Amino acid sequence: MLNDQFIVFGAPDLGDDEIRAVVATLQSGWLGTGPRVAEFEARFAAYKGLSARQTAALNSCTAALHLSLLAAGVGQGDEVITSPLTFCATANAILHAGATPVLVDVDPDSMNIDPTRIEARITPRTRALVVVHFAGRPCEMDAIETIARRHGLSVIEDCAHAVEATYKNRPAGTLGDFGCFSFYATKNLTTGEGGMVLARSEQHIERIRTLALHGMSRDAWKRFSEDGYQHYQVLEPGFKYNMMDLQAAIGLEQLKRLDAGWQRRQAIWQRYQQAFADLPVTCPAQPPEDVKHALHLYTLLIDEARCGISRDTFIARMNARNIGVGVHYLALTEHPAYQQQLGWQPTDTPIATAIGRQTVSLPLSPGLSDAEVARVIAAVGQSLKKT
Ligand SMILES: *Cc1c(COP(=O)(O)O)cnc(C)c1O
Repeated sequence: MLNDQFIVFGAPDLGDDEIRAVVATLQSGWLGTGPRVAEFEARFAAYKGLSARQTAALNSCTAALHLSLLAAGVGQGDEVITSPLTFCATANAILHAGATPVLVDVDPDSMNIDPTRIEARITPRTRALVVVHFAGRPCEMDAIETIARRHGLSVIEDCAHAVEATYKNRPAGTLGDFGCFSFYATKNLTTGEGGMVLARSEQHIERIRTLALHGMSRDAWKRFSEDGYQHYQVLEPGFKYNMMDLQAAIGLEQLKRLDAGWQRRQAIWQRYQQAFADLPVTCPAQPPEDVKHALHLYTLLIDEARCGISRDTFIARMNARNIGVGVHYLALTEHPAYQQQLGWQPTDTPIATAIGRQTVSLPLSPGLSDAEVARVIAAVGQSLKKT
């Protein structure tokens, strides 16, 4: 058992179609932002039930969050409410927009921002809510929308985990004013690095497109197109956040296998739920009937008082059995950068802090074989045995 090959956590599911698409792009001679990016935007928009003019492909979700905040008018002196149980990029984007992140603790079952705690943290400076559909489970968007409307706040969805998620049959990323997606290597749909932003307003997407390419008035691929050279103007100092055709070529193929990947993860998820039901661990809570969970992360909580071992000992034992695992996430309040700059303390967000100290994510890639899933299940049981 110990000699089995290491199971990489979050391994991407790539096939010959992706390889062929990348080779074809290389042979086309067009590597930068061009026709494949335009097609990927159109296909992704159609998948989400939007028009292509409501979509912009970018080089990361971090970029999507940053530009959504700027397009929403968030800036210096503003406050933006978000979840403490998220990747640091969510808070960093708020800081890079010049604003101050304000944390609202999560609900212990859904692990999403607790809407009942949001209004207590709203001040005259609050401008936006960045909600994170943690692990792929949609947030309680009805309650969040009601609060946002009452206080005139923009809603930005961090959909990095949630590409397939729906809430009451409405696709994640179309529920708020902006939806931000990640195509990082470990995500449900990958382009290696990459991201996408959706917006309700086409004007917001136009601004985001300009900001994503130096603030220039024309796309570079049009600038050097067959129509001949065209002048551009810099409308505002922007960023370098555009996606390449090489990435979009992978994304177009990944989009085709998205549902098959979700089906496979659902089968793995159900095997885990059955296998771990009688262990002294906490498995993911069942989401309500009217949402589709994107099944991005399968997390167990390892409570030392119940399990007799710490989460970190559990991780070491899984690694010793050649199983890669992840931690999503230490609460944002645990990190020195935010403690120093913002005065945050782990006790500010007790629920997220407790989850962050107990949580471990198991392999859930659709590329896992049944035998590998069985190895993960056996390793969990063995790792929890008191020796
Ligand atoms: C991965 C991730 C991001 C950042 O995505 P990038 O594409 O790597 O910038 C943001 N938020 C969450 C919740 C994530 O998991």
